[in-house]
Amino acid sequence: MTLSLHTPDLIQKKRDGGTHTRAELEALVLGFTNGHVPDYQVSAWLMAVFLKGMTLQETADLTLVMAGSGEQMNLGNLPRTVDKHSTGGVGDKTSLILTPMLAALGLTVAKMSGRGLAHTGGTIDKLESIPGWTAELSEAQFLKQAREVGLALVGQSKNLAPADGKLYALRDVTATVNSLPLIASSIMSKKLASGAHTIVLDVKVGAGAFMGTLGAGRELARAMVDIGTHAGRQIRAVLTDMDTPLGRMAGNSLEVLEALDTLRGHGPADLTELCVALAAEALSAYGEDPAQAEARARQTLADGHALHKFREFVAAQGGDAGYVDDPARFDVAPDRAEITAPEAGYLQRIDALSVGRAVLVLGGGRERKGEAIDHGVGVELLKKPGDAVQSGEAVMRLYHRGGRGLERALELLRGGLGFGPAQPAAQPLILDRVN
Ligand code: URA
Repeated sequence: MTLSLHTPDLIQKKRDGGTHTRAELEALVLGFTNGHVPDYQVSAWLMAVFLKGMTLQETADLTLVMAGSGEQMNLGNLPRTVDKHSTGGVGDKTSLILTPMLAALGLTVAKMSGRGLAHTGGTIDKLESIPGWTAELSEAQFLKQAREVGLALVGQSKNLAPADGKLYALRDVTATVNSLPLIASSIMSKKLASGAHTIVLDVKVGAGAFMGTLGAGRELARAMVDIGTHAGRQIRAVLTDMDTPLGRMAGNSLEVLEALDTLRGHGPADLTELCVALAAEALSAYGEDPAQAEARARQTLADGHALHKFREFVAAQGGDAGYVDDPARFDVAPDRAEITAPEAGYLQRIDALSVGRAVLVLGGGRERKGEAIDHGVGVELLKKPGDAVQSGEAVMRLYHRGGRGLERALELLRGGLGFGPAQPAAQPLILDRVN
């Protein structure tokens, strides 16, 4: 039986485990984007995809249809372009450090970044902790700055992969976010439409990530690498742990402060290692020997080049670059509370999801789209899993404003902590690589 492109037939096909053609996906997704296919039919189809899955070919076709649903950036005139994407985590300020490192290493970063999503933070929100810094650049300004500074960063354009914006909003309210083909196509459609030649993907795995297990993370990474490779791009994926927050700070201004420490060469080991590894992946995708790439990446932190690039980038986008040199000027919430260890022993666990949610209830993230956020609130991890603790010793510090959300944040954080008499085995940060 041949199916027409009648929407109920397409929903039925997926409901019954069938495989869509590219033309069918175009009819559904482009029809939805331009308002001809209603939400309720797409909701039913999304649930069918969630339950029945998609083949790799279907996922690749869906990605290309979404990428082609709006404008596509042409970065073809810029040298050695590179983009980076993290699937979302807690305390993940990697882009703030990695992008100036890449620019200092001679690559061009012309990147679109997001705001916070659910319990995960967003690069644009973090950078807006610097007074004056703006994510609003015209396309001409964006390309000029990328050429001159090597780094330009803007918010997600509504015209770029608009199908993803509409589908994501629907997935968010129909319990269909956590589906491998839908996540892979959502991420890769935006990355392909953004135009970079080389894309480094940081696929987070664990309690604070969309992918809970290494197996699921590997499958997502494989799908994204294959989709990007078929589209003629160089894709490198690194799978990294997100059971525990990255670094020691979670919250917007606090994360920028930690990023500045890292750019000065004094950052926490896990964050520094991840930034060096991702920068080395980007350089090696451009043919550099991996060991030399890693040494050069480390050097940009040690010799101040990456910090200089960050300062230049902040000033180019209207930010007060004085903040880069005088971190005391950042607005950090003045009120503090601490969580202490109930007994002597070892800190076994800090659940990243609880930390992300705590920052949200303190006011550092949004419950609803478009809400204003408090950049100064957050959580500092004074101890990390594996550290010895004394009874009554502080393990976390909360930065709050007048007690807003404090009780709930304390409850969330305490629920995510585990203590015990034995030192837990050290967990590697980088779990695997997929090229
Ligand atoms: N990030 C995205 O851009 N899309 C998803 O579906 C999940 C994470």
